[in-house]
Amino acid sequence: MVCMTANILVIGAGPAGSAAALWAARLGHHVDLVDSASFPRDKTCGDGLTPRAMHALRELGFGEEVGSGYRNKGLKLHGFGGSTTCPWPETAFGAVGSAMRRTSFDALLCSTAADHPNVDFHPGTTATESEFTGDRLSAVTLAGTTGEWVAHPSHVIVADGVRSTFGKKLGRTWHRNHVYGIAARSYCTTPRSEEPWIHSHLELKDEKGETHPGYGWVFPLGDGYANVGCGALSTTKRPSHINTKKVLHFYASTLATEWNFGEPEKVASALLPMGGAVSNVAGRNWVLIGDAAACVNPLNGEGIDYGLETARMAATIIDAQPHADLTLVWPDALRAAYGEAFTLARSLATLLTVRRFLPLAGPLALRGPQAKLIMPAAARLMGNLVTEDDRDLVARLWKIAGRATMTDQELWSTASS
Ligand SMILES: Cc1cc2nc3c(=O)[nH]c(=O)nc-3n(C[C@H](O)[C@H](O)[C@H](O)COP(=O)(O)OP(=O)(O)OC[C@H]3O[C@@H](n4cnc5c(N)ncnc54)[C@H](O)[C@@H]3O)c2cc1C
Repeated sequence: MVCMTANILVIGAGPAGSAAALWAARLGHHVDLVDSASFPRDKTCGDGLTPRAMHALRELGFGEEVGSGYRNKGLKLHGFGGSTTCPWPETAFGAVGSAMRRTSFDALLCSTAADHPNVDFHPGTTATESEFTGDRLSAVTLAGTTGEWVAHPSHVIVADGVRSTFGKKLGRTWHRNHVYGIAARSYCTTPRSEEPWIHSHLELKDEKGETHPGYGWVFPLGDGYANVGCGALSTTKRPSHINTKKVLHFYASTLATEWNFGEPEKVASALLPMGGAVSNVAGRNWVLIGDAAACVNPLNGEGIDYGLETARMAATIIDAQPHADLTLVWPDALRAAYGEAFTLARSLATLLTVRRFLPLAGPLALRGPQAKLIMPAAARLMGNLVTEDDRDLVARLWKIAGRATMTDQELWSTASS
């Protein structure tokens, strides 16, 4: 028999929050899960689920429901006059990806969490104020449709997304000197929506013909539509002045004939802190997870997998060490899990923002016979599809490079400057 051992408040019921609520509930904790929105709700996203995300979903107990039967086999990379097909590598994550509209995906995760007997779900409820007793977050004010109430949880998992409005109240600071993303997505009708490959165009041009560091994507959804979008990389030193919505329209128009696209629908854009470029991600009895902790891959902008994974890590740590001071335990856990991969990816992504790098490196990587050797490895690294157990050459080189660049203590640091 599972005994109720604690009361955990989870703020935000996106993939990270819903997964955290489910993991904690399955470990026997009573969970209050709150979200400002009522579900189904939309979330600006490419809707892509890498093998890493599919693996995390299977671990959480989602199998067939995700993707409603749509599966993809890998990535086709285009640009600089070349194209390469990169099947998902055979790793412990599995070699299957998918894509599912966030409206349905998030509603599925959230309703599964809400159905668990240990979870009380409160949609339309915003975490507004925090109160501390010593260094312990002892009370959180929640504002819902029926008024305000105050929760006194033993632990708080903050999964409030990219803006992290509640996280900011706890001291979360985003460092824009590190590379971040600016991205836009849309939905286009296409007769090729069953296509079993996702497509990325690494030569992202605007209507004036200028190339920007970033990429465009076509992620078929299997429902008559593809998610079509683009994302650019930016830093305070080399800011991107791209209008992503405009570039998205231009990008979609360049592919309109090949994909028989309808006009882009539901165009929306968002910023994307990446690679752990935030500080103050934990206190004595609270942690930030998912986008709130900038757990987004700097090389491809995906964060659903890290949201699901950090959810499990947080629930497991709270369960195993209920009296631990999480202030250092949590950033250390994040650094151990992603430090090397994110630091390396962040360095490479920063390199891409150097104006002359991409026009020189792009043709070398994507054109000619070497592309078939380089790009599948690059696609695997972009997707961070390297596990601890992988011993092949690409995995070993990635790990050595990761360790060499992992000197950056600003990753999830506890200082706010
Ligand atoms: C254009 C674009 C394309 C992307 N494409 C991909 C992709 O293809 N694949 C991929 O893996 N990732 C992609 N990402 C990243 C991905 O969308 C995020 O990493 C993912 O949504 C993170 O999930 P989350 O649960 O942390 O946050 P969210 O999904 O943002 O959920 C946060 C939740 O918190 C709630 N909330 C916020 N504040 C409060 C509060 N104070 N009180 C209560 N509730 C609150 C919100 O209503 C929301 O429901 C993309 C991002 C962008 C911008």
